Amino acid sequence: MNLSDLSTIKSVLSRHGFSFAKSLGQNFLINPDVCPRMAEESGAGAGTGVLEVGPGIGVLTAELAKRAEKVVSVELDRRLLPVLRETLADFSNVKVVNGDVMKLDLKQLISEEFSGMDVVVCANLPYYITSPVIMKLLEERLPVKSITVMVQKEAAERLCAAPGTRACGAVSAAVRYFAEPEVLFGVDRSSFVPQPNVDSTVIRLTVREEPPVAIRSEKQFFALVRAAFGQRRKTVLNSVSAGLSLGREVVAAALERAGIVQNARAEQLTMEQLAALSNELPQ
Ligand code: SAM
Repeated sequence: MNLSDLSTIKSVLSRHGFSFAKSLGQNFLINPDVCPRMAEESGAGAGTGVLEVGPGIGVLTAELAKRAEKVVSVELDRRLLPVLRETLADFSNVKVVNGDVMKLDLKQLISEEFSGMDVVVCANLPYYITSPVIMKLLEERLPVKSITVMVQKEAAERLCAAPGTRACGAVSAAVRYFAEPEVLFGVDRSSFVPQPNVDSTVIRLTVREEPPVAIRSEKQFFALVRAAFGQRRKTVLNSVSAGLSLGREVVAAALERAGIVQNARAEQLTMEQLAALSNELPQ
């Protein structure tokens, strides 16, 4: 079955009485070039288990299943289960799990489903939960090698921005702590049905084995990052003292010990400087 062919998609969906739910970020890929490329870039291959989020009608799932040893796809919309049974009938190495990716115990799922395999994540993510899904995958320290996902173009820019650059925000610094992000390729909005109002980008986050900086407390580091980037127009001195309820003189002294100028803004700080500042703040 050609799952990126519009008339095939329409006939499968209408046979199952399916209508798109905008609230679930349901924009399905119809550009035939995108899924094979994503599947290749994800590293899906012999001996690999792939965790997919949101298979839709299974267009990416099928490309992953052609390459990987096993694919487990988590789909929240129950109405898609009979559709997927039909569209993925040719693949014996795919399991569809009905559930909310934000609520599932993914560590348990991975250990039960992918024993002895290298695991990667590959997905065309629902836009309304892009960053929460990515942060859940990273913060839970799941045993996955990489995360290859399609996200909104603007989200990709934020997620992949390097500390010390204008586009950097709290989420960029957090992503970089856990992974090495890279932008792979752009996907025009005309590649989807229904067509969204924004273009997309495929990114890959290669999960680090060790953090790139030494920090005394992760909790404190992430609290600092949130505070520093929370009020971007303020200096770090002001945003951190307000955000972490610390006296200005305490933050000023920590900045000095970390070798950071007093009027620095969060977007000017490198990962090493953010780490140094976090280590110099009182615990
Ligand atoms: N992979 C398909 C494709 O590329 O055509 C569909 C991608 S569509 C952008 C996002 C999919 O995620 C939809 O199938 C939607 O129902 C599903 N979804 C939305 N929220 C979800 C959640 N919390 N957990 C799991 N799946 C979810």
